[in-house]
Amino acid sequence: MTLARPAVAAFQPPRRTLMGPGPSDVPQRVLEAMARPTIGHLDPAFQTMMEETKTLLRYAFQTENKLTFPVSGPGSVGMETCFVNLVEPGDKVIVCVNGVFGGRMLENVKRAGGVPVTVEDPWGRAVDPDKVEAAFTTHPDAKVLAFVHAETSTGAQSDAAALASIARRHGALTLMDCVTSLAGTPVLIDEWGIDAAYSGSQKCLSCTPGLSPVTFGERAIDKVKARKTPVQSWFMDLNLVLGYWSGEGKRTYHHTAPINPLYGLHEALRILAEEGIEQAWTRHRAQHEELKKGFERLGLAFVVPEAERLPQLNAVFVPEGVDDAAARGRLLTEFNLEIGAGLGAYAGKVWRVGLMGHACRPENVAGCLVALEAVLV
Ligand SMILES: *Cc1c(COP(=O)(O)O)cnc(C)c1O
Repeated sequence: MTLARPAVAAFQPPRRTLMGPGPSDVPQRVLEAMARPTIGHLDPAFQTMMEETKTLLRYAFQTENKLTFPVSGPGSVGMETCFVNLVEPGDKVIVCVNGVFGGRMLENVKRAGGVPVTVEDPWGRAVDPDKVEAAFTTHPDAKVLAFVHAETSTGAQSDAAALASIARRHGALTLMDCVTSLAGTPVLIDEWGIDAAYSGSQKCLSCTPGLSPVTFGERAIDKVKARKTPVQSWFMDLNLVLGYWSGEGKRTYHHTAPINPLYGLHEALRILAEEGIEQAWTRHRAQHEELKKGFERLGLAFVVPEAERLPQLNAVFVPEGVDDAAARGRLLTEFNLEIGAGLGAYAGKVWRVGLMGHACRPENVAGCLVALEAVLV
């Protein structure tokens, strides 16, 4: 006896405009790159592509770190890769929490056996460097400072340069989440002295979800090499992954890389390099200004004070008397437009309008404002 054969039609996704917190719109060029023939992950041709991807990622991160590569997995796997490698059981870690993703960092520290020292800031605000300084004064033995540069749950941007310099002065490593910031707003790994950072493929890089670019500096690598206990995750242990992503010409099998998604990331990064990273930052800023004018006209109030706002993630309060889910439902069905709902403490109270990567274009800003106006009357 076998099960009856299921009769299922090919999946035809609707055409949407993705203006939420990610994924963002994926350009046709990236989709076409992903449709090219699959080859072996140890094929010399594939290895050339891997080297180019590392070069392109260094440009995106603005770093000369040799250890810069895409982890096979979503941003959350990049996050976990950073924590399980850099945090040894018993290590004190200062963790800044000003939204959902800071909370996930805290959870990672605990699960890696670290001793967290939490620095809390209100949702919708940047991390306060004075509180971080005070935490180091109280805990001079802290080994790592972890914070989210662009808190996607609220749209707040923290001063990464200031935070990293505090950590360095106190002899600690800096671990930064730049999932939403990378390619949308300046991320200067080397200039700021960030020791380890992770990002995601589906936000301002406009690739499909499922890859997490990471970068590690010398000080971070030294810490991993000096560990007394093995990394508790086999898959994410950098010592093992390294044999696959570095070691030109003598790569060894670690896991089968997601070949075709990597073609997509390679193409997405080529698009970024063609535009120029400064130009990408300027475009995000300019479209944010246009969207802001429209929101003000519609009476939508921003969650984050102007000086701490991210251009690529615009969180506004759902106006009084408007049904959050019904309004977003109409945007999707009548306008094929996806915007993000509120997360955690902001569920039902906030909308998150993304202007990420390829989705950050004048026609999308205009279309979004027309659609919002229609569902708000
Ligand atoms: C999206 C996001 C993540 C998680 O990325 P996934 O690809 O969804 O796992 C982590 N941190 C921040 C700030 C994010 O915006």
